[in-house]
Amino acid sequence: MPFRYPVSLEVEGKNCIVIGGGTIATHKTRELVDAGAMPTVIAEGTTPELDAMEKEGLIRLERRPYAPGDLRGAFLAIGATDDPEVHALIYAEATRENVLVNCVDDVQHCDFAAPSVVRRGDLMVTISTGGKAPALAKRLRKDLSERFGGEYGELVRLLGEAREEVIPTRREIDFDTWAARWERALDDENELIGLVRGGEGERVKEIVRAHVRDEHIERVRRIDGEARPGGRGWVALVGAGPGDPSLITVRGKELLRAADVVVHDRLVHPDLIKDKTAVYAGKHGGAESTPQEEINALLVRLARKGRNVVRLKGGDPFVFGRGAEEAQALASAGIDFEVVPAPTSAIAALAYAGIPVTDRRVASSFAVVTGHSAQAEPDWRALVSAVDTIVVLMGMRRLEEIVARLIEGGADAEAAASVVENGTLTSQRVVVAPLGELAAEVRSAGLASPAVIVFGRAVELREEIAWFDATEQHAQAAPESGAKTSL
Ligand code: SAH
Repeated sequence: MPFRYPVSLEVEGKNCIVIGGGTIATHKTRELVDAGAMPTVIAEGTTPELDAMEKEGLIRLERRPYAPGDLRGAFLAIGATDDPEVHALIYAEATRENVLVNCVDDVQHCDFAAPSVVRRGDLMVTISTGGKAPALAKRLRKDLSERFGGEYGELVRLLGEAREEVIPTRREIDFDTWAARWERALDDENELIGLVRGGEGERVKEIVRAHVRDEHIERVRRIDGEARPGGRGWVALVGAGPGDPSLITVRGKELLRAADVVVHDRLVHPDLIKDKTAVYAGKHGGAESTPQEEINALLVRLARKGRNVVRLKGGDPFVFGRGAEEAQALASAGIDFEVVPAPTSAIAALAYAGIPVTDRRVASSFAVVTGHSAQAEPDWRALVSAVDTIVVLMGMRRLEEIVARLIEGGADAEAAASVVENGTLTSQRVVVAPLGELAAEVRSAGLASPAVIVFGRAVELREEIAWFDATEQHAQAAPESGAKTSL
């Protein structure tokens, strides 16, 4: 009898009968009690454990042999005697009376098999070999009990609670969608189990609810503020914008408000961090700077201490900001993080200078490249031939060389070029000059870092659309040879 159809029975409040009082009968009785039944045990001799269970009121004990008629009105019967003839009688009566029966180790006299069980709260993994390989069943049971620890019981409990809460969603979507969302919710089973172990059951429910309701706000919420039990902090890599503190994004501002600590670089406007615990961790053109590994380690350390950290960077965190390296370090340390982009100086400083990086009439492409000597040298010739607007960051130290390279690469020395210093700040200064004269003009005006260098026909549009520094522009006499400096 292979017992092909698996079920789990509810036995609480049902009339269950165990016939026999030896070790195996005791074991079967214990299983029924654990499952919520209050069985009747019929046996002449009993183990001390059965006696104790009777005393505790967990079972009823009838000290006598089995007699036909004992199974009348029963739901389930276990025959655990070592007498095959008694089993045959029990089986015959059970069949007549429609009682589910299992005579232990006697498959001829069974309606059902009692599989090996790994039980973790409401989670039940059962193993059956159809009575053919009990030793294998035992071995698998051992493997499975190692694989599924006690936290799985807790996970099942939490999922049950989350399920109650999201049941209204079930009515709004079809079954396949519902099932697919649940599947997605459990995709990261290890993360959920980790949270259970860390005592963050509420977080588990939150993640599951968000998946099932299809709210993609999980990360946002994760980072949104309230201190979390379990003490894990988050890190947000936030772009501060190009200079003017009002150019940070709404999201960046929100996270700044929620942060305990701000780790910032040199380009960040002091107004953004004035009420915060701020740690400077910057880089600047060579001189004293914090090694990147130390910054990464600092962010990880702070988050592990439960701090909510904003890593605030000038411009956009992923534009020459080493944001990706920090994100990688956080990801590999398992820290929750979010990336908040912002206007990059490469575009915004130019916009404040009245120079659009693209314009459908004169510039259909732009490139942003580094002028820093420590980084791989851009292919200037290729840039000049392929790109309409070339924007160079970190290029002020090598301005002369960059200009020379552009001209060597085929750029027209007479065409307009520009340098924008302190873009978007009230201290913004702009020099426009023919490329061949740009370096000299910029040096004589004393422009320094931070500044962007820009070459391309879009620069010509500044003449008409400069808006930010337009009032000051006239204060400065236009220098000879067509160069203009506005202070
Ligand atoms: N992540 C930043 C860039 C960092 S590299 C961003 O997206 O803007 C630093 C370089 O950015 C500087 O050398 C300079 O070229 C440029 N830069 C930053 N702020 C600037 C500003 N306010 N005006 C002009 N250039 C700026």
